[in-house]
Amino acid sequence: MARYTGAQCKLCRREGVKLYLKGDRCYTGKCAIDRRSYAPGQHGQSRRKVSEYGLQLRAKQRARRLYGVLEKQFRNYFKEAARQPGVTGTNLLRLLERRLDNVIYRLGLGASRNEARQLVLHGHFEVNGRRVNIPSYLVKVGDEITVKDKSKNSPRIKELMERAGEKTPPAWLEYDAEQAKGRVVALPTREQIDVPIEEHLIVELYSR
Ligand code: SF4
Repeated sequence: MARYTGAQCKLCRREGVKLYLKGDRCYTGKCAIDRRSYAPGQHGQSRRKVSEYGLQLRAKQRARRLYGVLEKQFRNYFKEAARQPGVTGTNLLRLLERRLDNVIYRLGLGASRNEARQLVLHGHFEVNGRRVNIPSYLVKVGDEITVKDKSKNSPRIKELMERAGEKTPPAWLEYDAEQAKGRVVALPTREQIDVPIEEHLIVELYSR
């Protein structure tokens, strides 16, 4: 399963926003974007006029990097979003939010989407009682996501479960701390998807 393995903080600096790719570190003074809030590379500090295409490309890259999705898969999400009824941009974000790794992150059972992805790959979660180790698995309304019994003894998972119990998940998810169980109560509305992305620019990019 392919994924980006380069420096995470460079991605945030390139996009000019915190993408929270490194979990706890993102909330400390060590965050690279707080220390060097310009793009990486030799020309990172030069001021250039950004073309319309450039803006659209950045919006797409930002979304891709935030959710940890590679180009081809992202394009497939877009195709699926365009096929669905309703607003394509919202459909696209909704599909990305429904990924199991994102849901685990939203529930607080991963400090970042990267960690959530890793935990899913290692088979620590069940969906409706069946082990699912596919980060791109799309959850549906009514799905129940639980930590596997055996995994509850892992010190890291225990810590994350405690933290999840203290957090309030977005309104489209529920979390029962006692049973370490999350539930998808609805599909997210655009207002419930808290991401710094202008999805209409992505639609414009792919409609060129
Ligand atoms: Fe981005 Fe986190 Fe690195 Fe800050 S610490 S630049 S938010 S990945």
